[in-house]
Order: sequence, then structure tokens, then C-alpha cells
Amino acid sequence: MHYQDVLDEVAAHVAPHIGRGQVAQYIPALAAVDPDRFGIALADVDGNVTGVGDWERPFSVQSISKAFGLALVLAQDGEKLWRRVGREPSGNPFNSLVQLEHENGIPRNPFINAGALVVTDRLHSLTGDASTTMLDFLRAESGNPDLAFDPVVAESESGHGDRNAALAHFMASYGNLDNPVPTVLEHYFWQCSIEMSCRDLALAGGFLARHGLRADGSRLLSRREAKRVNAVMLTCGTYDAAGDFAYRVGLPGKSGVGGGIIAVIPGRCTLCVWSPGLDARGNSVAGVAALDHFTTVTEWSVF
Ligand code: GLN
Repeated sequence: MHYQDVLDEVAAHVAPHIGRGQVAQYIPALAAVDPDRFGIALADVDGNVTGVGDWERPFSVQSISKAFGLALVLAQDGEKLWRRVGREPSGNPFNSLVQLEHENGIPRNPFINAGALVVTDRLHSLTGDASTTMLDFLRAESGNPDLAFDPVVAESESGHGDRNAALAHFMASYGNLDNPVPTVLEHYFWQCSIEMSCRDLALAGGFLARHGLRADGSRLLSRREAKRVNAVMLTCGTYDAAGDFAYRVGLPGKSGVGGGIIAVIPGRCTLCVWSPGLDARGNSVAGVAALDHFTTVTEWSVF
């Protein structure tokens, strides 16, 4: 099967979905993105990458960064992390506060905002600079030294960050943050603001398809840890739509409100799709449709 032919077929199939949904509205820098963009890229386990559409155009990674944060912390900390964050689907919106009070400030999983704040806090303690550590890692894995934060997005996140600040303060009140709340928030907002293309992200997520091996062949995660990250992506990576994503796509996936989604076919390849129009749960409408069609055509879902 030729990857390029499959991606062309997927792009043709999803054309009617492009522009559907609503571009993220919570900050001006994201609200201004052209809703008619669509790109998809596929990187195989050997690092060969191909794509169609806007696959080389950078966009805001937003919550896709949460998958990389989890991997970086697991790599250094192993299973200890799970004392501070759970690994069950939340069934609530990604920025919800409700569950934290019932569960003593322990977020349900690392991919909702509360959980990602805990992971960022831990990464910051381990490295002294959570957001730069992530940027350096993404540059190395994508082979793109030009990757950068978008300061406009980062400042804007900070200016509209009351909800995330509430989550962080609430968890701090239970003793579940080690660093000061403003520090954790700053690094979380900056990691969300990293600009990457589908090409960059498909390559950067390659270690998840290679059972933990980085682009240079060194090991980031054990096979067991790579399995765990993929499993949490499958069950929690698309928030309160994770059941529907598993039903339609059948792959570990992680979405962001910039309209990107990465998806992993362990042992074979990593995909990244981008289209900014979101559904009510914050997942790209055309992106999910594209991955749905991809696994239907190729029969490469994990099921
Ligand atoms: N920066 C966004 C937030 O914290 C990320 C959310 C997302 O991509 N789902 O609200």
C-alpha cells in the first residue's frame, strides 16, 4: 500500500467536512485561524514522512503537548507519577473542575488540563525548565531546529487563563503541586503555544510507534511505558469523546484545540492531521473524520 495514495484518498473523502465545526474562540490568536485548512502527514517507524494538503504549515499544538509531557515524565519518574494523577477517562470536559474536589485534588488523567498541570509541575521539578525541555525534545524528534513557541499565543493563554489558574490553585490546596502556581501555569501555557506542522508532529510522535525508541535510536521509554502512554491516549486522549474516538478511529490519539490530532499505529507509523474546526468537545471535526476513514480504508486500527 502506498501511503501517499491512501492520504490522497483520505483528503478527497473528508473534503466535505473541512470548515465544519468552530475554530477555538477562547483566545484571539486561535480564533483568527483560517477554518478551511486541512493537512495530514504520516511518518513510518523508519522516519520516512509524507503528507497532503497543509501538512507543512505550522499550527498551535495546544493539548497535543500533553502526550509529550507524559512521556518525558514517565521516562524519568516511572510509575511514581500515578500517585499524583489517575489514568481513567474523565467523562467531563477537558477544563472541568468538578471531579477534583471528590478525589482530593488528584486529576482523573494526565490529558485533561488538571492532569497536564500536574505533569508540567513534575517535569519542571525534574528538569528546571519544563517548557524548554519539551521544545528541545520536539526539535530533536522532528528534526526541525526551527520549532518555536508562539509568544502571542502564550501571552494570550495567560491573559485568558482564569480556568487553568483555578485548577492549579485548587490542586495546590491539596498539596498536589510542588512549584508555585504561576510557574506551573507559565510553563503549561508556553508548552501549549509551540507551533508545529503535521509533518513535525508525525515525526515527533514516532517514538510511540517505535515502542519507545527515539529518532536517533536511543531509548526514551521502555516498551511497557510506551504501551502505557498509548493506552492512556486511547482511553483519555480526546477527553469526553474518547469512547467515540475509539469507536470511530480505533487508535491511540491526542487532540488539541488548535485542531491537530496525533494518532499512533504501534509498530507501523504515527499520523498527524490538522483542521481547525472543532466539535463541541474540542476535537477537530475533519481530523476525526480523516482518521476514521484512514483506519477504515487501511484496516490498521488496533482492533
Ligand atoms: N491551552 C488550552 C487550555 O489550556 C489547551 C486545551 C486543549 O487543547 N484542549 O485550555
